[in-house]
Parts: sequence; structure tokens; C-alpha cells
Amino acid sequence: MRFIGAHVSAAGGVENAPINAHKIGANAFALFTKNQRRWQAKPLTSRDISNFKANCQRFGYRPEQILPHDSYLINLGHPEAEALARSRDAFIDEMQRCQQLGLTLLNFHPGSHLKQISEADCLARIAESINLALDASSGVTAVIENTAGQGSNLGHRFEQLATIIDQVDDKSRVGVCLDTCHTFAAGYDLSSIAACEATFAEFDAIVGLHNLKAMHLNGSKSALGSRVDRHHSLHQGELGTELFQFLMNHPATESIPLVLETIDETLWQEEINWLRGLQTA
Ligand SMILES: [Zn+2]
Ligand SMILES: [Zn+2]
Repeated sequence: MRFIGAHVSAAGGVENAPINAHKIGANAFALFTKNQRRWQAKPLTSRDISNFKANCQRFGYRPEQILPHDSYLINLGHPEAEALARSRDAFIDEMQRCQQLGLTLLNFHPGSHLKQISEADCLARIAESINLALDASSGVTAVIENTAGQGSNLGHRFEQLATIIDQVDDKSRVGVCLDTCHTFAAGYDLSSIAACEATFAEFDAIVGLHNLKAMHLNGSKSALGSRVDRHHSLHQGELGTELFQFLMNHPATESIPLVLETIDETLWQEEINWLRGLQTA
């Protein structure tokens, strides 16, 4: 059975995320382990950690079904030394929080050059940031999310993801999360089964499907190649629904977290059930 869920709230404490995921019938979930719009966070207490683990166990969530997402403030490719150091410290903290919670994945956006350094330089900084974080933690895989390529955000081309992975020392602890909205907005067509096959073949050739560690399932308000990041519900927007039929029957999605970040959370339970129903095997 595929791991399908949503990015649920952890308001009031990380231990609430598995409860919120269970309420919508999810067998996967994403969460922020701290406030995603602040730099500072209180360290997790041993009580936070044991409550989180107890609730995960109670509702049947193993680490491979859980995809934490890091803070939106972090830019691992920042052009300025001081800001880069701040982002790297915050990212190491995020990795260590995951480790403390017994989690094995951390999903993050690669970074932005802010038009101050070259793309190659920015990608090298991102890879070095990942190396530093892997050295400072254990058991957690760094999962790079592809982006829509809005502004100066890198990671919208499969080649950029491959360049980062190339420069990461421990290949066993790095991978990719493909976001359907971002992929489409970045210019990779997913609007029919044939288009999905072509896009997945391109991903496999450039990045490798073995590196696909998670997916975000979203509709897209923005058009193919628009490089604008605007999520929609699964049944609305520019993507259509053949994509989801393709994904729910593709072997690469069999044992990775598949997480909704769709805009109407009152539809999540319905969307999860609908996705489950698309599986033919
Ligand atoms: Zn994201
Ligand atoms: Zn996403």
C-alpha cells in the first residue's frame, strides 16, 4: 500500500502531527519540526520526543512514511558568507531535530543565488552545505525538493539537482523530492500519461529514479513553464488528473512518502481516498 498523506499541522507540538494525519486517514505525513518562519526554536525536550514517537507508533507511522520539511528562511546557496553560515547552522539544527525524533528524511528547497553569484557557484555552495549537515548528523537523508524556478531559486532543472548530488560526498544520504506543481511550472509536462512518461524518463536519465525519495502531490494554478509556484487542489488547475493515475501505478512511488500540499485542507481526506482508488495493483 502506497504511503499517501498531507503536510499536516504540528501546532501545539510535534506530537500533534501524527494525530492530525490519522484524522484524515493518511498513512504518510509531512510536518515542520519548528516554526517554519522563524530562525530560533526551543530545543526539543525528551518529553516532546517521546510523545512524538509514542503517537507515531500508536497510529502506525514509521520513519519511511514521514517527510519533515525545513524552514522557509534557509538558503543553503546564499551568496553572502554571514547569511550562508546562518542558514547552514539552522539546517544542521533541522537535521539534528529529525535525528532526535528518529526520522530518516528531511525535505528542503536547495537555495537561491539572489543574482549575486553564478549558478555553478550557488550549486557548489548548496552541495557543501549538505556535506556539512550530513557530517553533523547521522541516519537522516537530505531530500532536495525540485523548485518551480521562481526568482533566482535553483533546483528547477533536473541537471541542477544532478549537479548538487554529484558534489555530495555521501550519496547514500541524499535524494530528491519531486513536487508535481513545481515540476510542471519549471517546464516539464505532466498533463498526460505520455507527457509523464517522457518527464520521468528524463528524470531517470539525468538524476536517476533510485534517487527519488519522496513526492509532493499538488495541482498547479500556474501554467507549464511559467516558473510561478502556485499550488492548487488535485482536481483543479492546469495539471489534469492523468498524472495522478500515472503516479499511483508507477513502481518508483511504491514505498516513498507521497504528500499533499494542496490548498484546501478540507479536501485532503477526499483527495487521499481518490488517490488510493487510482491504484490498479
Ligand atoms: Zn517545499
Ligand atoms: Zn512542495
